[in-house]
Amino acid sequence: MTETTSALPRRRVAVVGAGPAGVYASDILQRSDHLFDRYPAPFGLIRYGVAPDHPRIKGIIKALHKVMERGGIRFIGNVDYGRDITLEELRKHYDAVIFATGAIDDAALNIPGIDLEGSYGAADFVSWYDGHPDYPREWPLNAEQVAVLGNGNVALDVARVLSKHAEDLLETEIPDNVYEGLQTSPVQDVHVFGRRGPAQVKFTPLELRELSHTRDVDIVLYEEDFEFDEASDESIKTNNQVKTMVNTLANWLVEQEERSEEASRKLHLHFLHQPVEIVEGRNEDGSGTGKVAGIKFERMELDGTARAQGTGEFVEYPVQAVYRAVGYFGSPLADIPFDSERGIIPNDGGGCSMRPVPRWRASMPPVGSSGDRSA
Ligand SMILES: Cc1cc2nc3c(=O)[nH]c(=O)nc-3n(C[C@H](O)[C@H](O)[C@H](O)COP(=O)(O)OP(=O)(O)OC[C@H]3O[C@@H](n4cnc5c(N)ncnc54)[C@H](O)[C@@H]3O)c2cc1C
Repeated sequence: MTETTSALPRRRVAVVGAGPAGVYASDILQRSDHLFDRYPAPFGLIRYGVAPDHPRIKGIIKALHKVMERGGIRFIGNVDYGRDITLEELRKHYDAVIFATGAIDDAALNIPGIDLEGSYGAADFVSWYDGHPDYPREWPLNAEQVAVLGNGNVALDVARVLSKHAEDLLETEIPDNVYEGLQTSPVQDVHVFGRRGPAQVKFTPLELRELSHTRDVDIVLYEEDFEFDEASDESIKTNNQVKTMVNTLANWLVEQEERSEEASRKLHLHFLHQPVEIVEGRNEDGSGTGKVAGIKFERMELDGTARAQGTGEFVEYPVQAVYRAVGYFGSPLADIPFDSERGIIPNDGGGCSMRPVPRWRASMPPVGSSGDRSA
């Protein structure tokens, strides 16, 4: 990196978090003096979030590598902000700090039974199947019936990986331990539940359609879940993405009647189901097993504005595992304001200022003067 030749003093910038946001922020600045990450390898959720059978998205890693290889970014791994480095220290050495630490934890779902054995957050499962170094190498895959809560692409990823036959993942970069774990899975039914109707799903068309290409897995839909209110009709009319997805789902509903052979695994898509309780199993003496044995929902209906309201009717499904994929949530960073309701750094249109931007000082130490562990 060369010093600027203009009269302006050299500005020093640190970026914390080497996911795509941190890498591209460094790139746009044309340099970050240091790009820190708590893990030894960069690229955040592209490495440890995107499913192994999505090689096109995983391929973004190549583009990120190219950005890093241009030479203007110095990556320093194994530096956990808040543990290995403080705001005070960063302030001492840099004129500005960009926090690009992403959202790595599951949003909470506060229903009874959420802490039972067999109830998992999608983020943990995803980290396991992507070979995250902080996660155990084994995952309990002993459920025949599984519930996945959520109607976004993460729920689809989790449901797809759970229902696929392990050998169909062999062509991907799936870690050996994950292949071996999935190979032992006795799963027969994976149920995906959304709170609202088919026109309100947060899937994207490509990811939804991909489900129908899964070998030996039937998609199962339920006619009573196909409810559309005025707001749904409007978004089907005005939003091509919604229209495509509703058409895809409606076609599958019709086509399932014509199926001649049954697959050994089924992926059920349910709508208008609001989870109210994860049901604990019972021992013969009536005491609780501490393990998931079912899940209870309130049936919902649309209120005309695409919001769902309870009908007072409840249904229960026998399942031995529940995965919640109800969103990722930001984690607080030491010494940085945090909105714990929304899981974000409070900001005004993306900008946040904890104190006035400092005047650039000519007396900054030269770049790389101390503690430079660039890779
Ligand atoms: C399961 C899943 C599947 C996805 N699939 C797709 C997909 O198919 N297509 C798609 O386009 N997008 C997908 N996404 C979304 C995509 O991964 C994210 O939008 C993207 O990674 C966000 O980038 P980011 O840089 O903001 O955060 P992240 O990728 O999360 O990166 C944040 C980085 O900050 C680091 N960090 C955090 N805290 C600290 C700290 N205290 N100190 C130092 N470093 C820290 C982390 O280690 C991480 O490297 C998926 C996301 C998930 C969760």
